Amino acid sequence: MSKGNDLVEPKQVDIVYETDQPIRYEVIDHVAWVTMTRPTFNNAQNGQMTYALDDAFNRAVKDDDVRVIVLAGEGKHFSAGHDIGTPGRDLHHEFDKRLMLAPHTNKPGAELLYTREQEQYLGMCRRWRDIPKPTIAMVQGACIAGGLMLAWVCDLIVASEDAFFQDPVNPLMGIPGVEYFAHGFELPTRVAKEFLLLGERMSAERAHSFGMVNKVVPREELREATAAWAAKLAANPRLGNWLTKQSINHVEELRGKRSAMDAVFHMHHFAHAHNDLVTGDSIVGVSGKSAAATNKKQQAGEG
Ligand code: ZN
Repeated sequence: MSKGNDLVEPKQVDIVYETDQPIRYEVIDHVAWVTMTRPTFNNAQNGQMTYALDDAFNRAVKDDDVRVIVLAGEGKHFSAGHDIGTPGRDLHHEFDKRLMLAPHTNKPGAELLYTREQEQYLGMCRRWRDIPKPTIAMVQGACIAGGLMLAWVCDLIVASEDAFFQDPVNPLMGIPGVEYFAHGFELPTRVAKEFLLLGERMSAERAHSFGMVNKVVPREELREATAAWAAKLAANPRLGNWLTKQSINHVEELRGKRSAMDAVFHMHHFAHAHNDLVTGDSIVGVSGKSAAATNKKQQAGEG
């Protein structure tokens, strides 16, 4: 009886990266522009991109010339969410972990995904949310599921009128929302329930109405509006910016953000494990393509 301690051979899966630079990093007038560059796949976030993001944020934090960080996505959409089906999906690839965690690819059963998501989703997002410089997410088009996590870790969100937000993982996979469970903090209670239970798209305008988004501008003014705020923040006292963002982050902690996320992360993984037991796949075989198709149908009210 192994009592679950046995290690397994890492699964060999072909990974084809379409680029070796999924993130572009530029510093313009004390602002680091961190841009996701997988527009062919609507900036679907694979591990390669996650670690490149972490590198970029780290670089921006360590560079004293950088005073503000903007997170952007190249192309039509900000982010289609976590990579669940491109040739560059690298679930079974081991990256050098940034948190104090063991390898995931040689772990059996639910331990593999639990370890990977502790690091790549929950852990990384918490780390980025606490970056000691102000951050702005610049969002256009889709900001779906994993994409929400990237926007939510930023201090401010500037969106274009065509932006929309969505977490469809309950309707699609029976999972209560994405791993970085900030829903109860980003959205008023009943709106959060609607958002999660129905999984429908939410317009930038509606998100702005209750404060999830700070500013909504026409698509062609998005970069300019973001750069204008970044310039203002860059002119502020450096330590003041850090303390000010931390003060609100601390209030969120007093309201239980970390504990709520920990609790829901475990429900999230109970749901992954349940899916695996029942269907043999932790995300019930949903791929990026099938998710988009189901989503389209649901959006059109065809069930
Ligand atoms: Zn997950």
